[in-house]
Formats: sequence, C-alpha cells, structure tokens
Amino acid sequence: MNETVSTRCCIAGGGPAGMMLAFLLARMGVDVCVLEKHADFLRDFRGDTIHPSTLELMHELGILDEFLKRPHDEVRELSGKVGNDTVTMGDFTHLPTHCKFLALMPQWDFLDFIKEQASRYPTFHLRMSAAVTDLLEEKGAVVGLRAKTLDGSLEVRAPLTVGADGRHSVVRQRANLEVIDLGAPMDVMWMRISRGATDPGQTLGHFDRGKILVMINRESYWQCAFVIPKGEAERIKQRGLPAFREDIAELSPFLRDRMEELADWKDVSLLTVAIDRLSQWSRPGLLCIGDAAHAMSPIGGVGINLAIQDAVATANLLGGILLRKTPSESELQAVQKRRSFPTWATQRLQIAIQNNVIRKVLGSSKALALPWPLKLMRRWPILRRIPARVVGVGFRPEHVKTPDTRAAV
Ligand SMILES: Cc1cc2nc3c(=O)[nH]c(=O)nc-3n(C[C@H](O)[C@H](O)[C@H](O)COP(=O)(O)OP(=O)(O)OC[C@H]3O[C@@H](n4cnc5c(N)ncnc54)[C@H](O)[C@@H]3O)c2cc1C
Repeated sequence: MNETVSTRCCIAGGGPAGMMLAFLLARMGVDVCVLEKHADFLRDFRGDTIHPSTLELMHELGILDEFLKRPHDEVRELSGKVGNDTVTMGDFTHLPTHCKFLALMPQWDFLDFIKEQASRYPTFHLRMSAAVTDLLEEKGAVVGLRAKTLDGSLEVRAPLTVGADGRHSVVRQRANLEVIDLGAPMDVMWMRISRGATDPGQTLGHFDRGKILVMINRESYWQCAFVIPKGEAERIKQRGLPAFREDIAELSPFLRDRMEELADWKDVSLLTVAIDRLSQWSRPGLLCIGDAAHAMSPIGGVGINLAIQDAVATANLLGGILLRKTPSESELQAVQKRRSFPTWATQRLQIAIQNNVIRKVLGSSKALALPWPLKLMRRWPILRRIPARVVGVGFRPEHVKTPDTRAAV
C-alpha cells in the first residue's frame, strides 16, 4: 500500500534529538511526524546518561518531578583509578542547576517518557517501523521523506524535513552533505557484568598498562566499556574469550569471580567510535541535528546532551516560523550558527583527550603514574568542579523559549 501524509515538520529518527524536537514542536502547536525505523525504543546500549542540563530543560518544561519518579540512579561524583590511585575527577554538587547530579536511566525509558509527554498533544505523530529510504525533492528543495513501513511505502511531505537519524544518517547521505571526519583512534567493547554487594559504589574509569575500562554503576550490574585501539576487535577476539576476561579482571580484580558471565562473544558489543561533523547542516527544506550533524565520541558521555540541546535550539529558532511559513535558507542556517560553537568546542576537547590520554594509555605497557591535572584535583578539590561543569552543562546551554499550547487551555 502507498500512503502519503502531510505535516509541517517531518523528522527522520526517534532518538533523543528527534523525539525532543517533536515534543517541543507539538507542544507549541506545530504538526509534526517522526519516522522511526525500529518497532520500539528497546535496542543495544547507547548511553544512559541524562545530564544536569537536560534535567534543567525538564524543569523548564514542568516535567522534572514526573521524570524523577521513574527508576533511575543519581551520580554526584565521577572517579577514576590510574594505576593504584583512585581520584575524584568531577564533582556535580556545585552546578548552577536544579539537579546537582547526572541521572542514569536506560535510553529506551527516557525516550518512552518523552513519547508519553509528546502524546498529550494532538499535533504529535509517531510512526514506528518506518525506515526512511530517500528524500522527496522538488525544484532543488527537500519537500519530505520516503519510508518503508510494514504495510508498504509511505511519503511524508512537509515544509521542513529534519535528519535526526544518527551517525549513520541516511538523510545526510541522500542530501549529499559533506562530512568532515575528525578521526578517532579507538573503538569500544561494551558488556554487562553483575554487581556484588561489596563492590565500590562509584562510577569508575580504570587506566593502567595499555588498558582502559570504564564502569558505570547500574545498581544490579556494571555497564562496562573496554577501550581498544581502532580496528583491533578481530585481533582481540582471536586471542580468545579467556584472555579478554583476564584483561578486564586485571584492571578490576573485584570482577574476577564473575568473569564467566561473559560466556560468548555475543555478550560483548562492539562500538566503532567516530567523530565527524557536517560542513553544512542544512539545504533548502532540510536540516540535520544531533549525531546526524555531528557524530560524537563516547568520551565524557555527552552525545545525548548535545543532541537534545540541538533540538531545543531548533524549536526555539524555527518553531514560530513553522506555524506561519516555510523556513528560508538563512533561517535554517541559524541553527548551525547557534550550535556550531558548542559542537566544535566539545569535539576539540574529545580529540584532545583522545590524543593526550587515550592514545598514550593504549600505547603504553608500563604501570601508569597519576598525571599532574589529577594530582592537582586531589590537592584542590575545587578543581573537580571544572570537568563536572563541562560534562554536566556543556558549552552554551539552551533554554526552552517555546510556549505550551496546553497551558493556554
Ligand atoms: C555504545 C554507545 C554508548 C554511548 N554512550 C553514551 C553516553 O553514555 N552518554 C551520551 O551522552 N552519549 C552516549 N553515546 C552517544 C549517544 O548515544 C548519541 O550521541 C545520541 O544518542 C545521539 O542522539 P541522536 O538522536 O542524534 O541519534 P541516535 O540516538 O542515534 O538516534 C537516531 C534514531 O534514528 C533512527 N534511525 C536511524 N536510521 C533511520 C532511518 N533510516 N529511518 C528511520 N529511523 C532511523 C535510529 O533507530 C535511532 O532511533 C553512546 C553511543 C553509543 C553507540
């Protein structure tokens, strides 16, 4: 069956960027349709962090209390273990936000929550199991999307099309937008290992003898990221699972009694890390945001936050225009203008950490000494507020400036 629908804004991808933009537009009365290729939000681990700045947005939207009633964990400090030294590297408790913590919640629960909020508005439409395959173009402008659904094909026509379909974006590819690859020297192997009653409580990064393991405390289990040099996954697999288990147990000996939980390579997922950005985020009728405009490294766990901040800036800049007319090229470019600096600054920092920390640790087989910035943080705890500010709030935080049509009812 071929189906055609019309809306004011058609969004490819129901991730954090697409769902937040759809919620904000629907909330102000703009008709919006999201096309998401999966049947639900359940999927591989892609980060569970909800940053203090995102929680602040929820406060501005009046949904924070409801959100915090959902099961979540609260992280107030970030610590790391270099060799045998454990250091607190970030302290969120002094942030200028209502929530002085980072919330951990599975991404699918967060997306379900945003969907529930958006569904209160009649102008919100979400089509699951709708995989975008192409752009609809007329006279050099994008006028909508073509998608494959379970029932056949679907065309959605709109004055604005948004590519929020992540770092392997079909939209940016079909639009021939130039991608600047900034390079990443690492990949990451992700796995879950259960938590024991006597395990340390903090979220920990372990750095030693050519190895890096990041462990996120999810109460009943540890979400673990084992960082490897780019392209080394096959070589690591060839060494066999027992050698891999031993690598992890060497870094975190308290996990040794549970390493058998990694019974098969199916228990370990590979994330190929990329850092890139588009030179132009828009074309007439089209805008890319979130990872589709700038794929982020997992360093600092800031990709979700940036994607959401892009969505807020887009709604602030284009929501009112969409109620009246088709956004002009310069109005679309205003989003990139607003969000370029935070994207550039965050990626610069991620690249600096890649080159000065990750590359060095992965390339060394010696025991590591505590680097001087961490020595300073140990001596002057006030310095721990700086990384917390960068991770928790980021550069140029956005604020909700769009109205709520329900507030007027
Ligand atoms: C393993 C891993 C761990 C990460 N850890 C963290 C972390 O701890 N903290 C953090 O902040 N960030 C983390 N990130 C990065 C973070 O997940 C992304 O930066 C963030 O999700 C970007 O949001 P987005 O909405 O732009 O894109 P995505 O989250 O990628 O969402 C894109 C959506 O589009 C859908 N889609 C894709 N193609 C199509 C199509 N053709 N048609 C329709 N729908 C489509 C996808 O199914 C998806 O739902 C991690 C990423 C990975 C892979």
